Amino acid sequence: MSLDERAFFTEKPEQRPGRFTCPRCRRANDYTVRWVRRTKKDRLPGGAGDADRARFAKLRDHLLRLDDEVVCKTCGKKFEIPSHHSLLFVDQLEGLPKDEDLDAEIAAAESQPAPATDRSKLPARFTRPSRGWKG
Ligand SMILES: [Zn+2]
Repeated sequence: MSLDERAFFTEKPEQRPGRFTCPRCRRANDYTVRWVRRTKKDRLPGGAGDADRARFAKLRDHLLRLDDEVVCKTCGKKFEIPSHHSLLFVDQLEGLPKDEDLDAEIAAAESQPAPATDRSKLPARFTRPSRGWKG
């Protein structure tokens, strides 16, 4: 029998800010959303089989959102948090370069001239006009 995924993680509640737009009044507000942070355990739990071992290797630390909805701060109506915000990988949160860093990297890469091919340095056989095999 395979283990429940939760057996592989240490869970810790966490609150994170989120900015959502109310579908009713169209106002965007900042909300505090409850999440649970799942940190992969250092080792496999007892009773793990080969399949569990393979699953464990692929797992990543992540955050799961607990709150499905928030109460709009403007109109007071409940609305659902968009579902694509329900799972975050921790390495996406913390491992990615910030946008400015990425922009600087791209700019640096573009400012370097591409190595030009200097035909005069190529061996003669590459620069001679090609002729047919039988001449
Ligand atoms: Zn609203």
